[in-house]
Amino acid sequence: MATAFNQPLGGNEMIRSGGIATMMRLPTTTDYADIDVGFIGVPFDIGTSNRTGARFGPRAIRAESSLLRPYNMSTGAAPFDSLQVADLGDCSINTFNLLDSIRLIEEFYAKVFAANIKPISLGGDHTIVLPILRALNRHLKKPVAIVHVDAHADVNDTMYGEKIAHGTPFRRAIEEGLIDTHKMVQIGLRGTGYSAEDFDWCRNQGIKVVQAESCWYQSLAPLMQEVRMLIGDTPTYISFDIDGLDPSFAPGTGTPEVGGLTVTQGLEIIRGCRGLNLVGGDVVEVSPPYDTTGNTALVGANMAYEILCVMPGVRYA
Ligand code: MN
Ligand code: MN
Repeated sequence: MATAFNQPLGGNEMIRSGGIATMMRLPTTTDYADIDVGFIGVPFDIGTSNRTGARFGPRAIRAESSLLRPYNMSTGAAPFDSLQVADLGDCSINTFNLLDSIRLIEEFYAKVFAANIKPISLGGDHTIVLPILRALNRHLKKPVAIVHVDAHADVNDTMYGEKIAHGTPFRRAIEEGLIDTHKMVQIGLRGTGYSAEDFDWCRNQGIKVVQAESCWYQSLAPLMQEVRMLIGDTPTYISFDIDGLDPSFAPGTGTPEVGGLTVTQGLEIIRGCRGLNLVGGDVVEVSPPYDTTGNTALVGANMAYEILCVMPGVRYA
């Protein structure tokens, strides 16, 4: 076992408003050797249909993450005691070409997975989950289970005639056999649709759809117990669209929908993933231009940290 795991730069070593804005003030590296979990930014937002700005998400999340300390006082998780974690920087994209960007993201993540690193990605709009899942499938050579938090199902067939956009990634991933749909859950879906049957396609694929209304006023811990039973030890990816949370908590996003999940429910979902065979995760759709207080990025940073805390191999106090 390595004797010196990377540690976030402490608040008593450098004032929290100072220092280089890596995720949680961790060291940044492009050397993938011996890294267990890597935070990666994907500054991509040319798949958005409404408000843009998620390309600035990684920087804003990193900036707000400077407040985070190493130990999870709620769950006892001590991720930096047993895992080698680093900020692997950003995946470069071609902002003038969506399909080329998708290719670049897949190639970037293929190298990450080949190094047996579990990525926690900072979006970027939700389009990025498709090339990440493609790369993951190249590595695992089998479909993954999915915990998907979102106001939207993101299973449109096309948007403006295009097959790849931020509202289509799970449709494509399912068509391509990247996901075990009977081990997929979508939590927080709501709002207005293009047709009354918008969520039926998901249910017809075998996906467990948990609309936001059925989450109102209650703890999601029992739901997550069901989810853990459903998924078992299948490799699992968690995709957290910040718009799954209510816009009162997370207004800085491209397609906000009222009546969403609370922050505590978001925490319950991620913490409820403890024990799953997680192989990666993301927090997407944080759009700083609409995030006047920085709170959406702060919430996003916390959710990314919580994903780290439930990665396999994390030591608990
Ligand atoms: Mn989404
Ligand atoms: Mn969404």
